[in-house]
Amino acid sequence: MDGRTGFAAAIWYGWLMLGEGLAKGLWVTARNFIGSYLSEERLVTVQYPEERRSLPEATRSFPFLVYDGDDPVTGLRCVACKICEAECPPQCIYIVKDKVKKPDATGKLQNQPLIFDIDISVCMSCQICVEVCPFDAIKMDVAYEWSTLDRFEGLLLHKEQLSKPNSYYHKIHPAEAAEVDARLAAARARAAAKSSGSSARPVGVGAATPGSAAARPGAATE
Ligand code: SF4
Ligand code: SF4
Repeated sequence: MDGRTGFAAAIWYGWLMLGEGLAKGLWVTARNFIGSYLSEERLVTVQYPEERRSLPEATRSFPFLVYDGDDPVTGLRCVACKICEAECPPQCIYIVKDKVKKPDATGKLQNQPLIFDIDISVCMSCQICVEVCPFDAIKMDVAYEWSTLDRFEGLLLHKEQLSKPNSYYHKIHPAEAAEVDARLAAARARAAAKSSGSSARPVGVGAATPGSAAARPGAATE
């Protein structure tokens, strides 16, 4: 084989390889296209926004505030301690504590936020605010449809928009919400037992520390 013939053979082989790759790609496309009419598992797209895929429980978008019961004011768990505001890396939380206290879900007077804003155009969904909140008052939402033409006020969420019932938390993160409920119920039971003097726990054991479950019921009533 002379040089010219060898070069022509290499070109031909290259085209053959290219053709084979192309044929394989077309075969995969055709198989999925036709298969999508026969099996839903082959559907890789949905007719959004009419259809939406269900989200995994671990999905997180931006934070929201949890309230117990039916009233977003009295039921709000947040006691305006401002820990989340201080710890938020991009500083997108803004809180002003109300001078007026309100009874919480158990009837005890608690501090409350007068203003609680989160700028979700800055929020990076890191969840640090959730991790540091000692009162399980702030959790990560799964809502992601926030497109707006107003990138300032449209993406600055206020307390009223942020407040969502515990039932919503259960709907989007059922396992996590059940675990939080159990922890809070245990903490309330411990606090009730302690205040009624029936607790057998020795002084100093299980004492409330910032961030502990025992710190939650009535911990911010000063
Ligand atoms: S850390 Fe929790 S209780 Fe404190 S201000 Fe933030 S959300 Fe409210
Ligand atoms: S998720 Fe992160 S960035 Fe967003 S408000 Fe919480 S701490 Fe700040």
